[in-house]
Amino acid sequence: VTDLNARLSAIRTRGELKRFAAALSPDEIAGLIDLLAARGITADPEDRKRLVRLALDRADAAQAVGTMTALDESFRCGHCDRDVPAHGRTARNHCPFCLRSRHVDVIPGDRASPCHGWMDPVRLTLRHGEAVILHHCRSCGFERNNRALTDGSTPDDPAALRALSAGQLR
Ligand SMILES: [Zn+2]
Ligand SMILES: [Zn+2]
Repeated sequence: VTDLNARLSAIRTRGELKRFAAALSPDEIAGLIDLLAARGITADPEDRKRLVRLALDRADAAQAVGTMTALDESFRCGHCDRDVPAHGRTARNHCPFCLRSRHVDVIPGDRASPCHGWMDPVRLTLRHGEAVILHHCRSCGFERNNRALTDGSTPDDPAALRALSAGQLR
């Protein structure tokens, strides 16, 4: 699926979309169906172009906000411009390097907020023994606690977490 996502996000023109859809293998079609099912979308496997278009809708949206995706996918952080690999266990909601998030959810994970403001990490606290980052939206003032990710392929940068804890994160 990661490979499929990478190839999806490389589609730039309608011609490319058409060729991509025409060349899909049965496995890749099944992959797209799964990918859409994970987003709560039921799609017709016969209509390949629509499948690809549906899958692209969300890939483009994720790219447009330059940050965390609803699935555990790699992305480039739109704030610090670093490439963030997929986590491996769970979808990220903030960059492991600069700890910035984006106001994209109404309910965690739903990607339904139209705000898309940058969310700065303002405070590190412990909740039930877990490190929690309080994020504050620059655009609308919305605040949310997000668990720090200390496991996975690229855990949250310990130095950045220490700096946040000391009130010195830039
Ligand atoms: Zn970043
Ligand atoms: Zn906001």
